[in-house]
Amino acid sequence: MEGGRLVVAVDGPAGSGKSSVSREAALRLGMRYIDSGAIYRAITHYLLGRFGSLEKGKSYAEFLDGLKIDQRFEPDGSVRTSVNGLDVSRAIRDEAIARGIGAVSDDPSVRNFVNELLRSWSARESLIMDGRDIGTVVFPDATVKIYLDASVEVRSIRRVAEYREMGKTVDVNEIRNQIIRRDQEDTARPFGRLQKAEGSFYIDTSSMEKDEVIERMIGLIAKADGPRVRDGRPE
Ligand code: C5P
Repeated sequence: MEGGRLVVAVDGPAGSGKSSVSREAALRLGMRYIDSGAIYRAITHYLLGRFGSLEKGKSYAEFLDGLKIDQRFEPDGSVRTSVNGLDVSRAIRDEAIARGIGAVSDDPSVRNFVNELLRSWSARESLIMDGRDIGTVVFPDATVKIYLDASVEVRSIRRVAEYREMGKTVDVNEIRNQIIRRDQEDTARPFGRLQKAEGSFYIDTSSMEKDEVIERMIGLIAKADGPRVRDGRPE
């Protein structure tokens, strides 16, 4: 892990456990963790606040001008996301955001805006970033690329448990349908769709414990012999 900054790209479908294992691996390795999904959620929150509802196929480019989005990875492993200085970390986990996000993450101008922002954060430090298109579009030259997967059933159960931890009661079938819908949206979009990046390590976490996945990731990162990245480009 010496000789330059490392960029670890972790992609996979909703509920595959990407964010919790990436966050924990980053903490243990002393790297920064970036949750790219939270950025799409934050933009959705902002646009929903402005328009009340969102339309697929509309370009939201003009509303991104001057929009200031920040994300901090705290020493306790929590992630704080803000829009124009306002902390939206909790608000972006609302169901309404998941329902409206497709219109936002399908918009190519939003994707370009997010990609530039994500790349700008790689300039100074080693990081683990998770999302859908991190290893394919945002950092095609990432040092390590990992694709995390799990069956729809397992992912639904995990999502329900997450909501329960937040004190929310949700219907398992509804969550399952939402996961299927988001898989369709994520794999069908014309730009930045979810797919396995070339050279990525595939991990099916369906029957793995969280700690096993973290250890596996740390092992792959420790052995990393991919390019070290400077300003989003290989050194
Ligand atoms: O990771 P999370 O489930 O919070 O992401 C929320 C949504 O943001 C995804 O369903 C997807 O539509 C979008 N997203 C994306 N590209 C990324 C990360 C997230 O389109 N790199």
